[in-house]
Amino acid sequence: MSANSRALRLRPSPANGSRPTYAFEKPVADRRVNSLSAAVAKLAAVQKSAGSKGWLSSKLSPKSFQLLGVRIDNISMTAAIGCILDAAHGMSPSSFAFVNADCLNIACGDPRYTNILADQQAVFADGSGIALASRLRGITIRENVNGTDMFPLLCQAAAASGLSIFLLGAEPGIAGRVAANMSAEFQDLSIAGTHHGFFDNSEEDSVITMINQSGADILLVAMGAPRQEVWIAANRNRLAPKVAIGVGGLFDFFSGRVWRAPVAMRRTGLEWVWRLGQEPGRLWRRYVLGNPLFLVRCIREQVVESLSQLSDAPRAAAHEALLLGRDKNGGVGASAAGTGSVVGCQS
Ligand code: UDP
Repeated sequence: MSANSRALRLRPSPANGSRPTYAFEKPVADRRVNSLSAAVAKLAAVQKSAGSKGWLSSKLSPKSFQLLGVRIDNISMTAAIGCILDAAHGMSPSSFAFVNADCLNIACGDPRYTNILADQQAVFADGSGIALASRLRGITIRENVNGTDMFPLLCQAAAASGLSIFLLGAEPGIAGRVAANMSAEFQDLSIAGTHHGFFDNSEEDSVITMINQSGADILLVAMGAPRQEVWIAANRNRLAPKVAIGVGGLFDFFSGRVWRAPVAMRRTGLEWVWRLGQEPGRLWRRYVLGNPLFLVRCIREQVVESLSQLSDAPRAAAHEALLLGRDKNGGVGASAAGTGSVVGCQS
């Protein structure tokens, strides 16, 4: 059985069945998306009139690029796993992160998280939001490198390389179930240990001792962003595993606590809609408000960069387009995602 088919077999618990639609949030999303579409269309026209090759049409695929002040490494899943394995066999400690649209929204209001991301060995482009925002900038993302797709592949590669993995995070019992599921799937896989992610400061030393004594080569920390990245950065120097990676909520999927979106939704970049349907109470701000906010921030960043290259007439039009994305208070969703009041991250 392939690694992916294992993930597909997982079933949700009854508590995670689908919920009614979220009609009361929809008008907010529609309004913002309409403003956004208008802004994009206007900017495309500005570029055309300026004779610019244009960032909406070019097809660059650089190895890394900046988005909202965060460096993203534009590499394939295979290359990403190769980086991790190399680092696990290396001499110095390193850490890796995945960033999706929500992560970049958080980074806009959290300089500490932004700085931590800058210190990662590599930052992987996770999800359709990053792909879309990159495309608006003329950059093609080589592959959607998200933790949930990577995890079984990494387990497989680690098993083949003789590297062991420690699972830290999620609610009590979840990491243990993930370990059992993945060990059943990959016979040579060595899960060095597991621990839940709801410990307080007084327990931190014993958790770190447990990790270090396990002899794990790779530590996966599934406590959500930015908590997991902050925790790894704060403790990186006293963690023995050569590699530490923040992996978000993926233990919930591989334990069977939460059912992942059907493949068709994943392929069309709509996995977030599925997740929203499963946990609307927790995730509506992240997706319904956060996604449009993220795109507006990205467009604004691009406009600010493009302004210096435009002549006076297109510059005025670009300003006008930019204003389409503003609300009456002068800031699109300034409080929408609860992640700071600055609409654009000026890198
Ligand atoms: N979590 C944790 N410790 C905490 C808070 C959260 O281990 O103090 C876990 C939580 O149980 C869940 C994951 O972190 O499994 C966060 O999931 P989320 O979907 O928010 O992460 P994402 O993938 O979106 O970053």
